[in-house]
Amino acid sequence: MATINCIGILTSGGDAPGMNAAIRAVTRTAIYNGLRVKGIMRGYKGLITGEIVDFTSSSVSNIIQKGGTILKTARCPEFREAEGRKRAYENMRVAEIDALVVIGGDGTITGAQRFAQEFDVPIIALPGTIDNDLSGTDATIGFDTALNTIMEAVDKLRDTATSHERLFFMEVMGNTAGYLALSGALATGAEAAIIPEMETETDQLKTLIDNGFRKSKNSAIVLVAENPATGGAMGLAERVKREFPQYDARVTILGHLQRGGSPTASDRILASRLGAAAISALKDGQRNVMIGIRDLEMVYVPFSKALSRTKSIRKENIDLVKILSI
Ligand code: ADP
Repeated sequence: MATINCIGILTSGGDAPGMNAAIRAVTRTAIYNGLRVKGIMRGYKGLITGEIVDFTSSSVSNIIQKGGTILKTARCPEFREAEGRKRAYENMRVAEIDALVVIGGDGTITGAQRFAQEFDVPIIALPGTIDNDLSGTDATIGFDTALNTIMEAVDKLRDTATSHERLFFMEVMGNTAGYLALSGALATGAEAAIIPEMETETDQLKTLIDNGFRKSKNSAIVLVAENPATGGAMGLAERVKREFPQYDARVTILGHLQRGGSPTASDRILASRLGAAAISALKDGQRNVMIGIRDLEMVYVPFSKALSRTKSIRKENIDLVKILSI
């Protein structure tokens, strides 16, 4: 195996709070271990256009507390094409980058998997997405911060919901998964979470109404995972209007607010540990794995496993939301 002297780092896909803390950890751990570091701008796009900058320890000063990503991020359709990936590889060689650390979600890891299949490039991925929808890891960078943003928003919504005695649907992100919605409901005492994982099993809206969710309460907040399977908050509010007109349903869509903000302590620590582990993994000869965290320990997760969608929602938490909101 070729020796690794220089690593390239990029952030790609949807940004997530804590990505900067990860960039910092990767950079400084690499430098500590005698490696050179190059920052690749705008995800895979920067590899294709050659927008690559030398990183020193001070390149990552004063960023641990900042949301977003100093490397910027972008969607890069060219990287989906073989021709684009070839150009990316050529630019990597010109920049003398021997290995990559990519930080992003399922799309980013899919791109990394393809790139590694076609070219002899060691790649380590870090799970960076607010959605927590990658398998093989208990948490992803950004999930906890987004969850806290949702919690604050629901707390505020509760004030007005209680005053007006209304049913509120609050739509939250999550991609294909209901983690943000379900954990958000647990953290706020929301009356229910409507999530894609349950959509094939039951009509979640009907169950909610049938359970008489307002029996002992004068307001109801339901967290809805944004996903075609759930119909989203707007879709549910329209159904209520049609099928249960006795209720006055309102919609709040949190949108990109969930992506922003200073990362929580938990996300900063997670990102720092994962970032350092990425360099240890390369030093150990690991390649083409995502670093995950399981039961507080760092683990190596093959790309195929990370993308396998085998992480299941905790069904008992759905019941717990119900029990705790009687
Ligand atoms: P995320 O990583 O947050 O899931 P995206 O799904 O937008 O975000 O993916 C980020 C980038 O990863 C895409 O813009 C593209 O450059 C790359 N990518 C995604 N899917 C593929 C694929 N099937 N093949 C090659 N590259 C991909």
